[in-house]
Amino acid sequence: MSEFILEARDVHRAFGQTQALRGASVAVRRGEILSIMGPSGSGKSTLLHCLAGIYTPNQGEVWFDGTRVDTLGETKRTELRRDAFGFVFQFGQLVPELTALDNVALPLLLAKQPRRQAYAQAAPWLERLGLEEHGDHRSGELSGGQAQRVALARALVHKPRVLFADEPTGALDTLTGETVMNLLVTAAREEGTTVVLVTHDVRVAAYADREVVVRDGRAVTTPSSAVA
Ligand code: ADP
Ligand code: MG
Repeated sequence: MSEFILEARDVHRAFGQTQALRGASVAVRRGEILSIMGPSGSGKSTLLHCLAGIYTPNQGEVWFDGTRVDTLGETKRTELRRDAFGFVFQFGQLVPELTALDNVALPLLLAKQPRRQAYAQAAPWLERLGLEEHGDHRSGELSGGQAQRVALARALVHKPRVLFADEPTGALDTLTGETVMNLLVTAAREEGTTVVLVTHDVRVAAYADREVVVRDGRAVTTPSSAVA
């Protein structure tokens, strides 16, 4: 078993004339929290989306736990994302008409869990993240920090193998951002979840075990890291 759970090998990706990635390689160890840093427009989000099987590279390979992801069919890739991955983006992307609890239960319902079981599994996550008072509030009425904690609960409720977070504190004030990051790190450590975290904020990157810097579509790893 490779020490790496997730790898991008020489990944290229263009959008029209824009070369977003020009040969990015990165390897993520099991259980580690890896931050992807770099200036705006350098290709961080594109790399995250390629690692997560959302974007298909034009060239190069993406591997997850011994499976080549970039050549998988769309159905298999959708299953992989649903079953093995969790996502948190800059703006929580909750369903505003649904309650906080409904939003957290959603991934379990989509995975065809019985309703009662899904809600029994979702409710403790709201408690863990200090949101038990807000379970029956429409998520559109929550504050930014509350919504981001609900998004975190929703991303973690099905115990994903990898959590992908793209600027998860970008829309929050510093203190709320710290709270969200602490919750993310604790939750990931307790479940052994591997975390890939995109940020341009050094205070957020400080929560990671290791960092990779993306410049002009290429990933520059720190000397302590090894890319297979
Ligand atoms: P970062 O996350 O580091 O700010 P991105 O990966 O979002 O950078 O973008 C890298 C480059 O690719 C930028 O020039 C951006 O404008 C372009 N790009 C990213 N996504 C798209 C897209 N969906 N359509 C067109 N261009 C895109
Ligand atoms: Mg980005």
